[in-house]
Amino acid sequence: MAQVFKFGGASVKDAEGVQNLARIVKLNQDKELLIVISAMGKTTNALERLNQAHLEGASTIEILNEIKEVHFSILKALFTDSKHPIYDEITNTFVEIEWVLEDEPHPDPDFNYDQLVSVGELLSTKIVAAYLNETGLKTKWLDARSYIQTDNTYREGQVNWQKTEELIQKSIPQLLKDQFCITQGFIGGTSENFTTTLGREGSDYSAAIFAKALAAENVTIWKDVPGVLNADPKLFPNTVKFDQLSYLEAIEMTYYGATVIHPKTIKPLQNACIPLWVKPFGDPAASGTIISDKQQEQLVPAVIVKKDQVLISISTKDYSFITEDHLSEIFTAFAGCHTKINMMQVSALSFSVCIDQNSRRFKQLTEILSNSFKIKYNEGLQLVTIRHFTKQLLDELSADKRIFMEQLSRNTAQLVLQ
Ligand code: ASP
Ligand code: MG
Repeated sequence: MAQVFKFGGASVKDAEGVQNLARIVKLNQDKELLIVISAMGKTTNALERLNQAHLEGASTIEILNEIKEVHFSILKALFTDSKHPIYDEITNTFVEIEWVLEDEPHPDPDFNYDQLVSVGELLSTKIVAAYLNETGLKTKWLDARSYIQTDNTYREGQVNWQKTEELIQKSIPQLLKDQFCITQGFIGGTSENFTTTLGREGSDYSAAIFAKALAAENVTIWKDVPGVLNADPKLFPNTVKFDQLSYLEAIEMTYYGATVIHPKTIKPLQNACIPLWVKPFGDPAASGTIISDKQQEQLVPAVIVKKDQVLISISTKDYSFITEDHLSEIFTAFAGCHTKINMMQVSALSFSVCIDQNSRRFKQLTEILSNSFKIKYNEGLQLVTIRHFTKQLLDELSADKRIFMEQLSRNTAQLVLQ
């Protein structure tokens, strides 16, 4: 039975990371493994800058050189033979980027984004596949765009599950019988063979898609943390690791902004009852966290902090009450601008919504809403969500802070704070 391993950018940020990945694969040599990999280190951010420069008609040489340098220095540390074919392969991949950059950008900026930014995953998987083969771990490189089929919503490709499952089932189980397979996270392809991406940090989701289609035994996401923690260790001193989480709890946590797993990952796994391990790549024998359909034994409070929030208050222009008709108009505007609502509250004269500040459509949204409503907003806020809160924890987290909005339900407390 197949298993799926996913390695994120941090795990392959340098040559030591790739060597460590090979060690982990070697420890699992007896398994049928599909390995899903993200772009190396901060490559996706650099490619985003490259794409932006191309769109603005600015110089792209420096950024491109920066990306080349990262990849070639990793190559040099991994392959001492400078005639190894991987050097040509990576050089050619960069030549393809240069061709794209020489052309005028396509009128749809999201289309451009996907054609360029997807290259990060192509580069990383080519390098890692070549390295595994070099160390005697027989590995086949697969182009995820030939398997994960999406519509043409660029930057947010919506998966055509039926086609995707057919394509994966047709060949991958057979291939896994006598070699490892490596493929890209984050990217897919349309029926016209254009590249799409699945949303930032979407490689976890890719791993879940492959796992579901393969009816995999389990998925392991290898991370730079010991497992799923009850809070971000960069923000809180005394975090605890969950040994076990239910799908429900994991999906709630990712929904509220826990970044340990991409929010779309759990659903396909839950639907097929495939357990998900989150384990530290620095200590492969460690226990990690298992996410499965097993009920959770203890409900430790979990704190999720979402930064860069904006609270918008939408009110009628003439002191009339907020009615269902108003709400319907407001929600239509949010849906039309693809803006996710993180928290909301309605009062007599206003409707308050908390959204991500960097939402690309924020300006468009406020313009549409201004036609019928008075709009006020506060920027630079934090949305703090506490699952299984205690009164004491609530007090601690809001001490010395100004609370803009607050909501308590049986299991969850949410505060918009400054
Ligand atoms: N490389 C992509 C990103 O950084 C996808 C991923 O890492 O999951 O967003
Ligand atoms: Mg990443």
